[in-house]
Amino acid sequence: MPHDTPLPAKIKKKPPAPGSPLLGPDAVAEIFRRLRDRTPHPRTELNYTNPFTLVVAVALSAQATDISVNKATEALFAAADTPQKLLELGEEKLRDYIKTIGLYNAKARNVMALSKMLLEQFGGVVPQTREELMRLPGVGRKTANVVLNEAFGQPTIAVDTHIFRVSQRLDLAHGKTPDEIEGGLNRIVPEEFKQHAHHWLLLHGRYICKARVPDCPNCRLVDLCPYQPKTPPVVPGVATPKPLKSRAGR
Ligand code: SF4
Repeated sequence: MPHDTPLPAKIKKKPPAPGSPLLGPDAVAEIFRRLRDRTPHPRTELNYTNPFTLVVAVALSAQATDISVNKATEALFAAADTPQKLLELGEEKLRDYIKTIGLYNAKARNVMALSKMLLEQFGGVVPQTREELMRLPGVGRKTANVVLNEAFGQPTIAVDTHIFRVSQRLDLAHGKTPDEIEGGLNRIVPEEFKQHAHHWLLLHGRYICKARVPDCPNCRLVDLCPYQPKTPPVVPGVATPKPLKSRAGR
């Protein structure tokens, strides 16, 4: 969609304080329509083969890139793709598979413990409720939301660092914690977009609305976005724009 599309809602000139009114419903719907146009069927960029390997991959991805996790899990999941097989593999061999991932010692312990709990308390099957998922060692609310959304098709919104930032820049939600942003997004995102909302916002944050230098000149949401200052276009022969000083919390 071109950037000069007429504005469906009033654009605010100044950033709102937390708790201030957010974008209007027409603007919110327009944002998600444009993100959907760009990626109609978004999926996680983590590789997995079943709900169990998804739980493991998401648990391993904390403070690590999806690429680094995928490199490690390719061989791991070929060797062990069920809780039983993981336990048979043992913690030492698991560590060998994932030692290129940050915090691998703690993550290996958690993966062994969650595999044990899945076998002992859930018959080896990944549960489909947030409460049950969050009982698994190393599984927090964000991981549970990713698993519910990706593996079980539930319209949950998992708030990671990209979604935390993008939601506030776009005035979709404001808050000091991921839970507050999740609550705000759940209130404002239209039902028809909820299933993929977190994927769209995550991809937008990862590739366009990046933390240090958002790619505003190539952003399809630029006319809807109240964030200031925007990154100026690159002019040939002129120095590349420096990272912006973001407003606090954004
Ligand atoms: S215009 Fe810039 S700040 Fe706003 S959403 Fe797009 S990339 Fe992010």
